[in-house]
Amino acid sequence: MKQIEVVAAIIHDDEGRIFATQRGYGDMKDGWEFPGGKMEPGESPEEALKREIWEELETRIVIERLVQTVEYDYPKFHLKMHCFWCHIESGRLTLKEHEASRWLSKNQFDCVDWLPADRIVVEKIKEQARRHKNMAAIHSKDTKPEMIVRRGLWKRGFRYRLNSPKLPGHPDLVLRKYRTCVFVNGCFWHGHHVEVKSEKGEVKSERGEVKSSECCKIPRTNREFWVAKIRRNQERDTEEQKRLAEMGWHCITVWECELKPSKREDTLTSLAYTLNRIWLKDHAVVGQPYPDFEEEGANYLKAAEE
Ligand SMILES: [Zn+2]
Repeated sequence: MKQIEVVAAIIHDDEGRIFATQRGYGDMKDGWEFPGGKMEPGESPEEALKREIWEELETRIVIERLVQTVEYDYPKFHLKMHCFWCHIESGRLTLKEHEASRWLSKNQFDCVDWLPADRIVVEKIKEQARRHKNMAAIHSKDTKPEMIVRRGLWKRGFRYRLNSPKLPGHPDLVLRKYRTCVFVNGCFWHGHHVEVKSEKGEVKSERGEVKSSECCKIPRTNREFWVAKIRRNQERDTEEQKRLAEMGWHCITVWECELKPSKREDTLTSLAYTLNRIWLKDHAVVGQPYPDFEEEGANYLKAAEE
């Protein structure tokens, strides 16, 4: 049987929706599919996909990873389809060849009549989403680094508010009495010990220059995408902490790697020490009595932290 090798783009947005197109021609007209098309001789799947999406949708995409290569026997040919998880770099998904398109949210994945091979991919995406959800549940609040800091401070007598929505950056913990916001940062997402700028403050190129660190290993695949993402997060962190400082807040960042079992107690002790020093500095006027500790009393979160 004739074999056809094609590539397809599962274009997603930040809300987890995926982009489906309806075929406007041929035997399988009106069926829903992921956009893409045939590979040309000498092309890599990634090159073919970028070209196809440009031709079909006038849109540039960033390819993140291969989701699945589907093999399917249609009546007249055998299809081999490489499906990639992608997002939009630029462009508006203008339909040049398809007759319709839809953004489908997670609970709408089954709302359209997918072509048989594409349906297999949809099932795969659903399965991955389920697994992701399970993983997220396993790494749920109780085991998160943030929880270690909360328990550690609570045990040492500190009281705090959580994720204050009114403050820039929604700090993980807010200790008003200490005028301090505590951020508990994941080393990967926030690029711990990763320099995306040179000493002169110039942005380094995304290809080779940015080096991984012990606790932030930047993936080799799609390196540029990850570096850009980490850079954005770092810039946002700096900006938010600057705004907090202008509002009179101290900011303390606790890194995930500092909460490893071997370092945890030292980190928490040093955090408590820093907080106490801040408080003492604020109340260093001789002869002045300490203010009432109950100032915020009942308003504090009374959740059982232990
Ligand atoms: Zn780290």
